[in-house]
Amino acid sequence: MPIPSKLPRVGTTIFTVMSKLAAECGAINLSQGFPDFPIDEKLSVLVHQAMSAGHNQYAPMPGLPALREAIAAKVQRLYGFSYDPETEITVTSGGTQAIFTAIGAVVHPGDEVIIVDPAYDCYSPTVELFGGKPVHVRLGDDMKFDANAVQAAITPRTRMLMINTPHNPAGTILREADMERIAAILRGTDIVLLSDEVYEHLVFDGEPHASAIKQPELRDRAFVIFSFGKVFHTTGWKMGYVLAPKELMIEFRKVHQFNVFSANTPIQHALATYMKEPAHYENVPVFYQAKRDRFAAGMKGSRFKLLPCEGSYFQTADYSAISDEDDMAFAQRVTRAFGVATIPLSPFYKAPPVGQRLLRFCFAKQDATLDAAIEKLCRI
Ligand code: GLN
Repeated sequence: MPIPSKLPRVGTTIFTVMSKLAAECGAINLSQGFPDFPIDEKLSVLVHQAMSAGHNQYAPMPGLPALREAIAAKVQRLYGFSYDPETEITVTSGGTQAIFTAIGAVVHPGDEVIIVDPAYDCYSPTVELFGGKPVHVRLGDDMKFDANAVQAAITPRTRMLMINTPHNPAGTILREADMERIAAILRGTDIVLLSDEVYEHLVFDGEPHASAIKQPELRDRAFVIFSFGKVFHTTGWKMGYVLAPKELMIEFRKVHQFNVFSANTPIQHALATYMKEPAHYENVPVFYQAKRDRFAAGMKGSRFKLLPCEGSYFQTADYSAISDEDDMAFAQRVTRAFGVATIPLSPFYKAPPVGQRLLRFCFAKQDATLDAAIEKLCRI
């Protein structure tokens, strides 16, 4: 029975498409962002222990109190400010669910939401599902934040601005000065900020993570979204959290309770214990920077031109010296003919820049996987 689609222009996400193609072709999968190495044994033991201890029923709707307290302590330690675990922190089933729920909580039909392209692929369809109108602007040519473009897109109907640092897929970061500019743009408006900071710990070269939390003016109007999967190499657990001032969180929880109700219980117990040890997240930047550098060094022998990677576990590269095919066609050919799956950048745009030839490589992989991929990519 044909039904009118709520998302007529949406197909299957590029991550699913490319991971499936990689599996079909037996290609090395540098497409969808996930680590291919084991997690810390201590963390799996903690989950098993929680299950054996009988923590297998619904967690409290906003999250386990012990986990919310551990999150508050970590945020205080990192950003010198914290949120009230009781009213301002909610544990979610991953970053994407947090984004969906935050948009659902505040976007009314006809509201405009500013999205900066290239943008993570769930942003725009989620806004549309709730009747909002995505207003797309772009990062600057060097994939840096363009405050002027955002400023120019603000109208009396703007309900939300979505930002992302470190940026997926671009691999660039926002800095304090960008956050100050954003604060100035939003000052005097009632625009809600959604700051997607799921790659919070993947910031390189000694740069600090410029969280919206550090800016009082921004955090007072922001949903700030985090992911356990990116930090503890557990993307399949689908666990994250959102921080927001009480008034915003009241609305968030109204939607959250009917969306998932609560997140996985034994994993919340395990994370509450595991994240108390700062080394478990403080070592992450060094670990991933070494992978970024290994991949970049190896790719010097290829015809790809790498763009700067300041954060995230994604490296973007220009292939215009190799081919003039569009990025979808090229990514598919590289998977089939050369055995490496990547992500083309065009799905992250409303209208991809004409002639842009960029692929995204995920370097959250064992060194042996990276080396094998580099060898293949250098043959192209
Ligand atoms: N965040 C992951 C990426 O960018 C994908 C997650 C997903 O497949 N939904 O590759």
